[in-house]
Amino acid sequence: MNTTKTKALGSQPKNTLGIYCHIPFCKKKCAYCDFTSLSAQSEERIGEYFDALEKEIRRHKEINGVLPAVDTIYLGGGTPSSIAPGYIEKTLSLIKEVFVIEDTAEITIEINPGTLTEEKASRYKKAGINRISMGLQAWQDFLLQILGRIHSQSDFIKSMEILKNVGFSNISVDVMVGLPGQKRSDVMATLIALMSFAPTHLSCYSLILEPGTPMANWVAAGQLNLPDEDEEREMHWAVDAFLKEQGYDHYEISSYCKPGYQSRHNIKYWELVPYLGFGLGAHGYFNSRRYGNTNALSQYIDVIKAGESPATLEAEMTPREMMSEWMFLGLRKLCGIRDSDFFARFGQSYWNRYGEVIKPLIADGLLNWDGSFLKLTPKGQDFGNQVFMAFL
Ligand code: SF4
Repeated sequence: MNTTKTKALGSQPKNTLGIYCHIPFCKKKCAYCDFTSLSAQSEERIGEYFDALEKEIRRHKEINGVLPAVDTIYLGGGTPSSIAPGYIEKTLSLIKEVFVIEDTAEITIEINPGTLTEEKASRYKKAGINRISMGLQAWQDFLLQILGRIHSQSDFIKSMEILKNVGFSNISVDVMVGLPGQKRSDVMATLIALMSFAPTHLSCYSLILEPGTPMANWVAAGQLNLPDEDEEREMHWAVDAFLKEQGYDHYEISSYCKPGYQSRHNIKYWELVPYLGFGLGAHGYFNSRRYGNTNALSQYIDVIKAGESPATLEAEMTPREMMSEWMFLGLRKLCGIRDSDFFARFGQSYWNRYGEVIKPLIADGLLNWDGSFLKLTPKGQDFGNQVFMAFL
């Protein structure tokens, strides 16, 4: 039995906890990336990072004592598969030592093609990892080169073969639309090629140009051209139609899955379920507080060595902030949000709190109310940010 199958959205067990661990190392920085990721770090520096990570995890436990059982663990990056597998094993066994982990916990690792070997994959499996999230982005090598990815199409195929040989069956793949030089036919070719690997989950992201990245500079200098907004939206809707035809459920604005294979960990983010974030730049939500760690590696290591918290942002959320987040994060789910769930959590109807926000969004065709769920319409998906901002 696949232990990572999920219950319906909106039914997260209330008294469980997710853990996110950030592993910020990559072989090389991609041209569009502004994530907390570092390339060319020495083995010694990586070792120091994991020592600090261990201390941060133990420190949290000392401060907070008994915590709810953990039912999702997510090792994200960066590229966790770019470092020696011993670090991954050590981190997972530490988490298992410090926390109570449910037998059916979903344990995900992010990997990138070009960094996975059979040995790493089998050690991940032995360590209890049961879900893989792999960054393909595009099938065409010319697009991978524009993105500055280290991998090629054949690296992806090799990684998929390794994963299947080792026995991983719950595999999510990331793809991107709206890339410079990308045509709708390239996107479709990517999806058609992917179907032969039968991924259980796909995340489809639109390229966002982040200021200061090489790609943003190339576009600003006219060296690269992006598809226009209409073309980008056409790509999105072509993906949507194709994946639905192939039996995928569009369950979150960027996420598709085969029935029962939603990302249980990511659902926690959209349903305001507590999770702890450990590592460089990691964020957490726990005891009605949001916190975010420093993005600076030296500061992270030094502060933890000194026995202090690496959080540079920490705030108790007000009920008003919680309601607002519950609305705009929850509306990312395509099934929408239920007034009775809002009432159970906040003791009032969302019509009472947000009626004057919701009604114009419905009138503009961005939201739909079916009598129990409020959800994004197709137009609302195209203008998601406008909808989400309205609840801030
Ligand atoms: S692999 Fe991902 S995290 Fe690493 S540099 Fe590329 S986009 Fe950034």
